[in-house]
Amino acid sequence: ERTQVINFNSGPCALPTSVLEEAAKGLLNYKGTGIGLAELSHRSGYFGQIVNELAGLIRKQLEVPSTHEIIFTQGGATGQFSAVVLNLLARHRLLHPNLAEEERYMDYVVTGNWSKKASEEARRLGGGVVNIVTDARTVSEDHKTFASIPPHSGFKFSQNPAFIYYCENETVDGVQFSTDPESPARFPWELLKEQDFVPVVGDYSSSFLSRPIPNLDRHALVYAGAQKNLGPAGLTVLIVRKDCLVDTDAAAKLGAQPVPITMDWKVIQSHNSLYNTPPMFSMYIAQLMLEHTEAMGGMPAITHMNEKKKDMLYEVLDEGAAKGLFRLRVEKGSRSWMNQTFHVLGDGKEKLFLEQAESAGLKALAGHRQVGGVRISLYNAINEEQTGILVKFIRKFIEENS
Ligand code: PMP
Repeated sequence: ERTQVINFNSGPCALPTSVLEEAAKGLLNYKGTGIGLAELSHRSGYFGQIVNELAGLIRKQLEVPSTHEIIFTQGGATGQFSAVVLNLLARHRLLHPNLAEEERYMDYVVTGNWSKKASEEARRLGGGVVNIVTDARTVSEDHKTFASIPPHSGFKFSQNPAFIYYCENETVDGVQFSTDPESPARFPWELLKEQDFVPVVGDYSSSFLSRPIPNLDRHALVYAGAQKNLGPAGLTVLIVRKDCLVDTDAAAKLGAQPVPITMDWKVIQSHNSLYNTPPMFSMYIAQLMLEHTEAMGGMPAITHMNEKKKDMLYEVLDEGAAKGLFRLRVEKGSRSWMNQTFHVLGDGKEKLFLEQAESAGLKALAGHRQVGGVRISLYNAINEEQTGILVKFIRKFIEENS
């Protein structure tokens, strides 16, 4: 039974039951048409309406400025690892046609496994040189884990790069940039002062719509795979600054790599995200999800809820750490609101923790296969009450095992 378990998976993740019930109705009979949503033509007026309403809800909740377009595509966040390189190198080519490849830089801020993966894709595609602005792993004490946002003094940006790339919330590691402009773990905007128009790209896959996006207007691109706070996989959302929608064919004539048509941001945008058949059902669920969060009070209410949830969780995890039972993977200040990662210390204790959680109906708490340990994910569909049930379980585990 759905009501007997709480799903803490890292994505795909829990979605509200009421949203799924509504979606199930639409799957059978969309708005009284007698035709299910997955059976309707994407050229029908219904579908253009879903695209527009979905974009409108995102624009409203995140206060997206008019300098930016909202577009939808497929291929997941990983698809954008490639698309970012191709579209922004094309833009750089149009602006600086005579630079050699060795003079085109792609700056990656590596703070976890996903930004690292994105940088590897850039290196694989080529067309420019990958500059690692900082590698949080080599900065950390054990050189193995990503445990914090490193001090800005060690960040090495290149001059006029084609773009600067970072991942706002590292889902595997549980490392997140801070929204506090005074925090040392904030994104280092102050270092970019002279390079205001260098495109800054943020992967927001696992924190999208969990709280407002600081300095959204300064980003060239904020993007996210949908399968955390927004809906099912299959849909990728891009918030892209208009000057980054470029004529990639013109760039190709100047020597840039051609961009596959399904990855070309300008093509997608100029067709209102309907250049080819979109992931209609995922978009519909995303729309229902945003209507649901809107009814909950929109971004202020969601932010408040998420802040409370993570405070409750870190409080009990710190209690366990103080008793020598837990080791939190991430340093205070860089800890993620969405993903809490830790190890349970002592022979067989971690296994016991995961087994007891599982039989208590607290599901999917094992850490990512690359790093092990425990990972809790507190996306928007997990409410305070459910978080409270988990906290109670953890507190009892600490009492019995320390
Ligand atoms: N970036 C981040 C931050 C992620 O969490 C993930 C996966 N969950 C990805 C990228 C890759 O996403 P996808 O599986 O949609 O390609």
